[in-house]
Amino acid sequence: MSRTPLVDGAPLPLLDETLTLRVRTGARTVVRRAGAELHLSAPDSGETTLRAALEHWLRGEARRELPARLAEIGRPLGLRPSRVVVRGQRTRWGSCSSLGTISLNWRLLLVPSALVDYVLLHELCHLRHLNHSRAFWGLVAAHMPDWAARRARLRALQGRLAL
Ligand SMILES: [Zn+2]
Repeated sequence: MSRTPLVDGAPLPLLDETLTLRVRTGARTVVRRAGAELHLSAPDSGETTLRAALEHWLRGEARRELPARLAEIGRPLGLRPSRVVVRGQRTRWGSCSSLGTISLNWRLLLVPSALVDYVLLHELCHLRHLNHSRAFWGLVAAHMPDWAARRARLRALQGRLAL
């Protein structure tokens, strides 16, 4: 599984954009976006330090972006989770509990928004059908006719769960 190397000039996929990482040694740990660049500076440029700083920044972005987009997709469908949490699952993009809590992986920010929308719709449909029955897929298909193509594209990007 390929991880994005955290070196100066490396590309970082962020939804429908590709940012360029600018890595530098600095007195403090700072992650700051400037246009299409993401500036990453830390006292030591070790992979572990940089990765932790990048993850912290991405989690913050995910908490800003994902619950809002989930609400936007669910509203016209009358589907609203009781709670939304952003987590760092290693093997899945999202999940839905029997209590109506939807958990979303912050790493969703690393895939194109059309695929994020598929995951969000998928989890929202679980609020009505907590299984992968024919009825569940029927509901998904009613709101996203090309869901299968999106799922296939997402599977091809499964490696991004390793960041
Ligand atoms: Zn599912």
